[in-house]
Amino acid sequence: MPIFEVRKTDLAARIGRLRTKHGTIETPAIFPVIHPFNQTIEPKEMLDIGFNAVMTNSYMILKRSKVTGEKFDVHKLLGFENTIMTDSGAYQLLEYGSVETTPEEIVEFEKSIGSDIGVILDTPTGFTRNRRKAEETVYKTLDAAKRSINYLRPSEVLWTGPIQGGIFLDLLEKCSREMVKFDFDLYALGSPTQLLEQYNLENIVKMIVTVKRILPLDKPLHLFGAGHPLTIPLAVALGCDLFDSASYILYAKRGAYMTEYGTENIDELKYLPCECKICSGHSVKEVRESSERIRLIALHNLHILSKELKSVKQAIEDGCLWEYVSVKCKAHPRAWSAFKLFKEYRKYLGEGTPVFKQKGLFFCTTPDQYRPEAEHCFKRILDNLEINRNILVLYLSTSNDHTYLYRLRKEAERRFGVKVENIQFCAGIFPMAIAPIEVCDIYPFSQYEIALPLDEEMRRESIIRLKKFLKRFGFKKVLVVDHSNGKYENILKWFRNKKDIISKIIFDRRMERILEEIEVLGVEGA
Ligand SMILES: [Zn+2]
Repeated sequence: MPIFEVRKTDLAARIGRLRTKHGTIETPAIFPVIHPFNQTIEPKEMLDIGFNAVMTNSYMILKRSKVTGEKFDVHKLLGFENTIMTDSGAYQLLEYGSVETTPEEIVEFEKSIGSDIGVILDTPTGFTRNRRKAEETVYKTLDAAKRSINYLRPSEVLWTGPIQGGIFLDLLEKCSREMVKFDFDLYALGSPTQLLEQYNLENIVKMIVTVKRILPLDKPLHLFGAGHPLTIPLAVALGCDLFDSASYILYAKRGAYMTEYGTENIDELKYLPCECKICSGHSVKEVRESSERIRLIALHNLHILSKELKSVKQAIEDGCLWEYVSVKCKAHPRAWSAFKLFKEYRKYLGEGTPVFKQKGLFFCTTPDQYRPEAEHCFKRILDNLEINRNILVLYLSTSNDHTYLYRLRKEAERRFGVKVENIQFCAGIFPMAIAPIEVCDIYPFSQYEIALPLDEEMRRESIIRLKKFLKRFGFKKVLVVDHSNGKYENILKWFRNKKDIISKIIFDRRMERILEEIEVLGVEGA
């Protein structure tokens, strides 16, 4: 049986199953980070909230073991019988610059304590603009992989290959290529924590895509230290499957109360805008002044993370992850900047996007015109259709109901007989596509909603698509029938300046009148 299986995809996101020694995890999943010896929230409580996997630090356990001589079993230690992932001490390396262990020792130790998912001793790049320093961490991480590799198997532990390089995409690429050669069970993208803290999400997007393009599709990708309600949907959409985070407790310690879109300072809140057990059972004052303040906020934060994960999964299930991520990213300008980058990566994102979906496509904001489904369907028209007709009747309306267009063609057939074969009827569904009538009742041309009038960037892209369409099929004359009540005025402006091809723009709703125009256009000479 494969270790990892993918059941459903949307954009680069996937819902999958990861098999570990202590049970199967549905991905995307978050592993809350737990201190091995000092827990504010017990793993059992995490299970109740919906987390069936946690992460702890094997290096801290190793240090204790060296001092006391104790032998540890990580499941007994945490009192948790489900999946446990162990980190290797890389975090300490990042924080303190050194650790008292070796790559060989730490993986042997992770095996001995019965970890389900282990990580080799990588050297985190962290956030640095110093290329030489970044290069060094890549070199050390690859060296650790080389040294550990013979100690990893055979064992029941799933091993993680960490990928370092920070914001230097070529280093990340190189590190990914080398790591893949070791054939780890899963891979992890290292040390974006500082970037995340600064909301430097654009770099995170670039980093994830760089790595994902190289990793094999059948391996899960873990994103280290990303436990923020805005980052999770963004990273999932780009193809991250697993997350770990101590954010729930770190935030709680400084009074940061998570919401769906970010955090609020508990001392500044008047209400608790949440319905979890904690928030429905306490007033904001009770939480604020409680002797268990940190614990209560942490429990609430975990609830928010769990809810976030469920919402993301439902969005993948529904095929509306694009809409979901778009709404989330509006919460912070830097998240929105990151979302805008999806345009550059639409080909990559399109690979996992189903061609047919249950729900219609929404076009609300500028980036929406680059959603992979729109690209897909327009490309299919250009690549697969053969149209050898001289006259184009382009129909513009604000509705996704194409009944009028069908009626118009029927009337034209009745009146012009075989000569109608020289006329192509199309719906101008800007900015998505120009859809020939033959495909208008096929998804997504019958299931979409567009916010009109189009903004400037959408208008520009619409014109680009229109030009491509006209060029591809070589129409001699175009009759534009506009029933959009001025909503496509900015597109019409372009038509008005294209006298060489656009014969007429007609606003009349009377079919008879439109048929007359078609006749004038030259159906007679067909
Ligand atoms: Zn709550």
